Amino acid sequence: MHQILLNNNIMEYKIKTIGVLTSGGDAPGMNAAVRAVTRAAIANNIRVKAIFRGYKGLMDDEVQEFTTQDVSGIIQRGGTILKSARSDEFKTPEGRKRAYNTIQKEQIDALIVIGGDGTFTGARLLAQEYNIPIIGVPGTIDNDLWGTDSTIGYDTALNTIMDCVDKLRDTGTSHERLFLVEVMGRDAGFLTLNAAIAAGAEAAIIPERATLEEQLEAAIGQGRRKHKNSGIVLVQEHAIPGGAQAVAKIIEEAHPEYDTRVTILGHLQRGGSPSAFDRILASRFGCAAVQALLDEQRSIMVGLQNGEVIYVPLTKAIKEKKDIKDDKWQALQVLSL
Ligand code: ATP
Repeated sequence: MHQILLNNNIMEYKIKTIGVLTSGGDAPGMNAAVRAVTRAAIANNIRVKAIFRGYKGLMDDEVQEFTTQDVSGIIQRGGTILKSARSDEFKTPEGRKRAYNTIQKEQIDALIVIGGDGTFTGARLLAQEYNIPIIGVPGTIDNDLWGTDSTIGYDTALNTIMDCVDKLRDTGTSHERLFLVEVMGRDAGFLTLNAAIAAGAEAAIIPERATLEEQLEAAIGQGRRKHKNSGIVLVQEHAIPGGAQAVAKIIEEAHPEYDTRVTILGHLQRGGSPSAFDRILASRFGCAAVQALLDEQRSIMVGLQNGEVIYVPLTKAIKEKKDIKDDKWQALQVLSL
């Protein structure tokens, strides 16, 4: 809420216009969040300005006012109708000044940014430098943000990976092959570990747990695997330099008896129509973000904890590290025996 000084009295004025943008990697469900923000704002007599191409569009004034009709028929669409972009210029004070010029020109009183930790880092700087109320909505397939059990897009990506692994298993079993499947996740292993459990994989190689040697031994060690000659190992893209290809090389040298194949799922993991879970989550988050502004919140992220929508300080969401659940890691070890 901006403050103005009138005759020495501080008067608060209501937020009249919200800007909304999507930034960083696209994630299924971002459209459902844009729809929810737009409709919840308009329902509260707040105008909505859609900002295209993330922070790049904010700097370049790629802005269009949205009506409720502009978000019709998008809840089921993957990607983001607002487009997304990565911008190094926004990381500089000069870039953020350009963004602020647009905010002033467009008379935007508050921003709702949908994205991951990079998006929130930029938002926090902009909020600090120009005293703008900003609310973060977690939208990333990586689910790596502290303070929320799930991020928009994560459930859909998880289901996509599970479906792909199910199909690979059919051919893996028929040909007695060991498939190494590379999964996205930036620095986090949530997608990899959970997809491994859901698809009944033999192992997951993730950055958060054990050394590579230990994980490989668990995955393909002679004693443990002697009754299996096919299998699926999920490898988080940055678990080791070179990802699944590098793991395959190590296995081929140490265990030439395995017929190893590498599948890199790549951008397949980002696409597709959002799951019911992601659509509902995005709808709740979008409405909650608007409500947060009405409640005079600023520099917070909306999150989900134990089924409830909550507010978390942006600073904490960015700085704190979310942990892999021990019981999941243990479950994978036991269930892959
Ligand atoms: P995902 O988790 O899907 O990759 P993300 O939001 O983390 O999403 P990034 O590419 O890291 O994606 O960040 C999106 C944008 O946020 C960047 O292109 C940049 O404009 C801005 N941003 C990222 N880090 C910073 C930073 N340290 N300072 C200012 N702006 C930043």
